[in-house]
Amino acid sequence: MKRMKLSLRYLIVSVALLSFILTLLGSLLSGYNTYKQTLITSTLETNRMYAEKLAQTTETFLQTTLQTLSVSAEDIALIMDNEKALLREADRLMQQTRTFNSVVITNADGKVLATSPQSLDLKGQMLTSPSSKDALEDRRPLISKPYEAITGRLIIFISYPIFDQHHNYLGLVGGTIYLKEVNILNEILGEHFYKDGSYVYVVDRDGRIIYHQDQGRVNDVVDSNPVVQKLMEGQRGAERVMNTKNKDVLTGYSYIPTAEWGVVSQRETSITLAPAKQMLRKMIVTSFPFLFVSLIFIVWLSNKIAHPLHKLAYYTENSTEKNQEKHIAKISAWYYEVIQLKKALAHSLAILHNRINYSNHQSRTDPLTKLTNRRGMDEHMKKWLEEKKPFSLILLDIDHFKRVNDTYGHAAGDHVLQFLAMLMTESVEPHHICCRYGGEEFVILLPGTVQKDAVRVAERLRSKMESTVSPCGDIVTISAGVAAYPDQAADFDALIADADDCLYEAKKRGRNQVVAFEGHDAI
Ligand code: GH3
Ligand code: MG
Ligand code: MG
Repeated sequence: MKRMKLSLRYLIVSVALLSFILTLLGSLLSGYNTYKQTLITSTLETNRMYAEKLAQTTETFLQTTLQTLSVSAEDIALIMDNEKALLREADRLMQQTRTFNSVVITNADGKVLATSPQSLDLKGQMLTSPSSKDALEDRRPLISKPYEAITGRLIIFISYPIFDQHHNYLGLVGGTIYLKEVNILNEILGEHFYKDGSYVYVVDRDGRIIYHQDQGRVNDVVDSNPVVQKLMEGQRGAERVMNTKNKDVLTGYSYIPTAEWGVVSQRETSITLAPAKQMLRKMIVTSFPFLFVSLIFIVWLSNKIAHPLHKLAYYTENSTEKNQEKHIAKISAWYYEVIQLKKALAHSLAILHNRINYSNHQSRTDPLTKLTNRRGMDEHMKKWLEEKKPFSLILLDIDHFKRVNDTYGHAAGDHVLQFLAMLMTESVEPHHICCRYGGEEFVILLPGTVQKDAVRVAERLRSKMESTVSPCGDIVTISAGVAAYPDQAADFDALIADADDCLYEAKKRGRNQVVAFEGHDAI
């Protein structure tokens, strides 16, 4: 199995995509986080300011209420014995201030002297709740903790002591707020921005809820809430906390000193962050077409970068490919590395091919005569035989060459061989191939030439040798046999054998002559 190779194209695409996606994710996340932080900070600030404002309003309300009770207490001191006047005063407090759900006036022992509304029917009874006892004992202005009154209602009792001008304690005047019914706190704290997930509640110094949009939660103790704990210590501020319902909320809180209450304005974090999530979704959706276009562009560009390199690599791997140089020349080199590689590859291929050509030529050339050697000759003939291409063959041999060697020396013999080779080359046409067959035997291959014309070539050469003084200083002659393919022989060996027969015949007839093959019977 072919091993999978990582290709440059995939590497470029991966790197480009990876960096693109990381950048995109980075900017999406940082955009989201910045927006989220802004939303959280601004919500915390809004809630802090809102809690602050409500605390101030409530503080002012409570002080005004105590002030009203103090003025009333001075009046009541003068009419303590007048039952009717006390009733009138109680009614006046109820109706003019619209602060209380009920008003009560008692004597120093806590016996009820007058109430409004009178339907409460408490007259003559003793106030027994712990907070009213506190008020009677301490003889000072008091805002009570929430408690259950005789009537079964959950109330807060705000009272003021009554003294005569000699500073004798006469009793108290107080008003109640029914926490679980329509009351002044509802009006002050209202249902302001509950619709956008924000809401307000108020706790007393024990962490007990005395106001909440959800009336059902009034009187719940939420002192485990970290913000409520801070309020119980009289702190103000804003922070993100888990509330007692295990909800992640953004909270602003402030303190009401007169009553030691705390106001909390808060909003669920998830509701606050909804726009950030929406923005993130929108950004992702908007960036998708961009991502797609980028992907196409990245693939196109990486292809363009990788293609020439891929081709170069391919042709380097397959260096025996035909027309390799042409293919390489066609590669579009449009950037530095490819230009250099292409140049270098073309250059080294040219060197390689030259070497191959040279050694091919060397291996097919006879070193002494520079004619085609036996191997080259065989290749030509084999090719023509395969192609059934007609050709003639002249086999020639130097006459009495042994004698030349013996007489003039081996070196002179070599010169004669070279001289004959030169004459052979001169006597043939360019497409004829002169070969050294071995020793002092030579072959001339004449493609597309009929035997008759080949005989003429052989005769011309023979006559030239006969009439020329060889380098040894003597005349050296040759004998030759001529045969033709495919007329006279069907294969390589038969053709050589035919020519050899003729050569033998020429020698036999006295040498220095050309014999043409005319059939076996003719020899
Ligand atoms: P024939 O006319 O019958 O052909 O006689 P011949 O002497 O030419 O024939 P023979 O085959 O007896 O001798 C061939 C000689 O050619 C023998 C060998 O020493 C010589 N010879 C072969 N190759 C070379 C060569 O490369 N250089 C030289 N100087 N002589 C060679
Ligand atoms: Mg011979
Ligand atoms: Mg010979």
